[in-house]
Amino acid sequence: MGKTDVASMDLAELQVFFDTLGEPKFRAKQLFEWLHQKQVDTFAKMTNLPQKLREKLEEEATIGGVQMVEKLVSRVDGTRKYLFALENGSVIESVLMQYDYGNTVCVSTQAGCRMGCQFCASTLDGVERSLTAGEMLAQVYTIQKDLGQRISGVVLMGSGEPLDNYDAVLRFIRLLNDANGQNMGQRHMTLSTCGLIAQIYRLAKEQLQITLAVSLHAPNDEIRRQIMPVARANPMEELLQACVDYAAQTKRRITYEYAMMQGINDSDDCARELAKRLRHTLCHVNLIPMNPVKERAYTKSSDQRVQRFAHLLQQDGVETTIRRRLGSDIDAACGQLRRRYMQK
Ligand code: SAH
Repeated sequence: MGKTDVASMDLAELQVFFDTLGEPKFRAKQLFEWLHQKQVDTFAKMTNLPQKLREKLEEEATIGGVQMVEKLVSRVDGTRKYLFALENGSVIESVLMQYDYGNTVCVSTQAGCRMGCQFCASTLDGVERSLTAGEMLAQVYTIQKDLGQRISGVVLMGSGEPLDNYDAVLRFIRLLNDANGQNMGQRHMTLSTCGLIAQIYRLAKEQLQITLAVSLHAPNDEIRRQIMPVARANPMEELLQACVDYAAQTKRRITYEYAMMQGINDSDDCARELAKRLRHTLCHVNLIPMNPVKERAYTKSSDQRVQRFAHLLQQDGVETTIRRRLGSDIDAACGQLRRRYMQK
């Protein structure tokens, strides 16, 4: 039998586990606080647990986490990029972004991705495996320790499709939110999805306060299917309906992400068509100047084009922002540090 990964368990589950070890309940709470409040990564450091119990835990349990392999720090704006190794040798990336309002970590949910978006580096070799909740938490905790400052927000925008790893991602959100742990407000968490309709309906029922971001990247199915294979099984009309339902159930505004690719999705007509579909819904569009990926054919739209596109959307009553590019000198471009490492 494999060891029990205590890093991904909630307090109630830890209590059951301690019961099977013949240990009192309050020990579970102590362990939980070591893992999620003090955030230590070995049982040896849990000094208020009796030596005997620590030895028993070494034998029966493990703390699933990540190991730092490489770190790049931007001289321009302090953005940090981390390359982390998982137990099985897979590597993932996480990014720290420093804003006026706090420190945000971009978390990976899978090593690689199987969604196949044509402009994205993470999906080039498919998915290696999904991450556990503990491995997602370890990205946040490790960066917090390395930075020496509190991490106040997360965006699930690293490699992987969060809704393709649904249970572990929900576990991650709840553990990160736990008052006996990091105690991060759900409103400071953003889950980004390529638009898996069935899972969006499921997520709406969880009644979370997180922000749902949906990668739209096109005003219609014709263009969307060219760049996002998932659009075939998840037609835009139904996707937008699921988003309207999500907003109605949670009272939370949807963010639509739109990576601007020259000559593909950035014309005035595209802006007008998009505005027509989104107007009168509880939403906000975030235009992303696309990050060029070596292996991909797409180039980014000019700044002027992005500005114009934003203007047209706003004119038609759709609230729009342009995502600021951070860490340009360390190539924070999604997934490319990981690829460089894998090709070595
Ligand atoms: N699987 C999730 C999270 C992916 S990463 C999703 O699809 O939403 C977060 C965002 O970065 C997504 O909107 C994704 O489409 C976008 N993205 C991926 N590659 C990009 C690139 N080369 N340039 C700009 N944005 C990109």
